[in-house]
Amino acid sequence: MFDQSMQDSRSSATRGDGDERESTAAVRLEGVSHQYGATGGRFRSSDERTVTALRDVSLELPSGTIVGLEGPSGSGKSTILHAVAGLLVPTAGRVELRGTDITELSDAERTRLRRQHIGIVFQRFHLLPSLSARANVALPLVQAGIPRGDRRARAERLLEAVGLGDRTTHLPGELSGGERQRVAIARALSTDPDVIVADEPTGELDTATGGDVLELLTDIGRDRAVLVASHDDATLSVADRVVTLRDGRVVGDG
Ligand code: ADP
Ligand code: MG
Repeated sequence: MFDQSMQDSRSSATRGDGDERESTAAVRLEGVSHQYGATGGRFRSSDERTVTALRDVSLELPSGTIVGLEGPSGSGKSTILHAVAGLLVPTAGRVELRGTDITELSDAERTRLRRQHIGIVFQRFHLLPSLSARANVALPLVQAGIPRGDRRARAERLLEAVGLGDRTTHLPGELSGGERQRVAIARALSTDPDVIVADEPTGELDTATGGDVLELLTDIGRDRAVLVASHDDATLSVADRVVTLRDGRVVGDG
């Protein structure tokens, strides 16, 4: 499904060369634990209002690899994805993005790294309903300070690459679920990130449209690190490796 236009988009990328990416795991979690409700010291850890979501999780995510994250609802999958994306700072442990521990950064610096290096795909797409597909895809490029004409060209090329070249001016409400998720994937790719995190990306889709999305993820995983949380076997089947969580703990990795 990905064609030459995607390769072109990658060669015009804003980041450095690939050598650096090969020498370091794109993402490394070391001894990561997280308790919701524990920040600010208002509650003791024994307080019933705290929820321990992750317990001493360590895992590596090399470039060019799709890692699946499986486990029952509540086992900590989304919490790991949020920690990797720098959307939350775990209460303990390191989260390294290309060698930098992002838990040590200021909020502003962590946000900057996220916008530069991470693409996020959510189960419910999270597109802005009043913006066209093209404008949704271009949105991260606005934040990255890319000039308008370049944004538009890049967004169109990405929509073309996900098979939506003829839907660029459609609003999300005018697209099917599978098409919306492909727009969301194009948006996640817009800044040409090293890492893609996808949280149940096929959870809202039927088997056929889910298959299109999985085909895209497979292509994306050729030269990026992809972490995909799912409890769907078809989705996990595109992973090179599957990490299994139970109760916030890694109980399998292979
Ligand atoms: P999964 O994605 O595998 O379903 P989550 O990472 O969402 O699991 O949740 C792990 C645990 O953390 C669950 O017990 C859940 O109830 C709890 N949790 C998740 N988000 C929050 C939150 N914002 N505040 C409090 N507890 C949360
Ligand atoms: Mg979840």
